[in-house]
Amino acid sequence: MPWKKKRKQRDSGTPLRPTRFNFKGCGCVSLLLLFLVLATVLLYSQWTFLQHRFVTYPRMADALAELEEKRRPAPRADGRTDLRGVFHSHSLLSHDSMGTPAEIVRGAKLAKIDFIFLTDHPATPPKDVPPELQGEHDGITLIPGVETSQGMIAWFFDTRTVDPKASLAEQITAVQAAGGVAGVCHPDEPRPWDHLPPFTAMEIYNLHADAKKTKWTMSYRVGEMFWSMPKYPMEVFYGLFHDPMGYVALWDHLTIGDEDHPGRRVVAIAGNDAHQNNGVRLVVSPQGGLVLTDTSPKVEPMMESTNWLARRFASGHAVGETVWRWDADLYERSFRFVNTHLLATGHSPSELRAALEAGHAYVAFDSLVTATGFDFSYRALDQRFLMGDEAPLSKQGVLSVDLPVSALISLKRNGVPVAQAHDTQLRYTAKEPGVYRVEVFLDYDGTALPWIYSNPIYLK
Ligand SMILES: [Zn+2]
Repeated sequence: MPWKKKRKQRDSGTPLRPTRFNFKGCGCVSLLLLFLVLATVLLYSQWTFLQHRFVTYPRMADALAELEEKRRPAPRADGRTDLRGVFHSHSLLSHDSMGTPAEIVRGAKLAKIDFIFLTDHPATPPKDVPPELQGEHDGITLIPGVETSQGMIAWFFDTRTVDPKASLAEQITAVQAAGGVAGVCHPDEPRPWDHLPPFTAMEIYNLHADAKKTKWTMSYRVGEMFWSMPKYPMEVFYGLFHDPMGYVALWDHLTIGDEDHPGRRVVAIAGNDAHQNNGVRLVVSPQGGLVLTDTSPKVEPMMESTNWLARRFASGHAVGETVWRWDADLYERSFRFVNTHLLATGHSPSELRAALEAGHAYVAFDSLVTATGFDFSYRALDQRFLMGDEAPLSKQGVLSVDLPVSALISLKRNGVPVAQAHDTQLRYTAKEPGVYRVEVFLDYDGTALPWIYSNPIYLK
């Protein structure tokens, strides 16, 4: 009603009729406004995901593929093979993984790795470790082992000799006494580092711990997990990555030592901490319906249904059977993201053990660019020393770094850079004794992505 007519009515004493809402005139505008508000909220909540999925990830994948193309790895001339593998993986022997031997070997084949040092918890007596989880299978060497809640990872010993309630130091001592190899995992957890007996290796990176550091909003996670992950799994994983410099500094502290603690030999490894338990699955319930739960062995229902659709899906399947599943952390993905390379004389467990104990190893984020072909050595007096070796300092001795593709090489002495080059190689005549190691970074979009961490050469 026009306002003039309304005023006339009021002034004449005629009772006012309530104004009728004009659906024809205002409805479309309201709907349009509502749509715009919803679209803005949706766009705002999914902005990061959309930007990653359509800009960041494709660009990163293209740039890395180009670098991979350019790789020219030099063959090794010392009779050793650069074997790429995984430390710290769980199987169905662990309380929090359902990974079968077949899934593990398949994941390893797809990730193109050569070996896996398994770490199951709780410890399984050797006689109960299935033959499919030890020795060579389809070209992959599997070495059974254990992870304790105190933070020890260990292999090549009778797991019954370790008390699960003992301290980390006591467990390491027990493993050494039983002839095994012990390491320390999860540097993200507090450990009595300076008070531990000698141990072989430590993780300078743990993928599982790293992923847990990222706080995702639910709306963002859904798009990343279901839409980006199948096409760009490594790029999504890289979105969870945090520079391990703090753990590397801790490792330096152990190998270099200080006034109170002499330096000690510790081999750096990467912890893939693969479980294949981050996902969802539908399991047939005792009522003949379906339960939505995660991909760990515990069936903790997130949702449950016995409606006709659920019953139809479940029909013909046994109670407890998984009728559908979707995995974020497939073994293949966890195995590919980061690797530990061993310069070994062969694939057998004893040859891998020897390379590990000698520190002939390096850590690389091979999901960026395959690092095989990287080498760090010391040539002096007609002798060639490898990563992990102790060598006498010689006047003409040269530290050599070689790469399969040009990148930023940083040579460090006792944790401090002494030489840098953006090249496929670096040569440095060492004048002082010390703990020498190499870090390599890839150029990407104006940032230096951590790529390779060598083990040290100890010049005495
Ligand atoms: Zn673990």
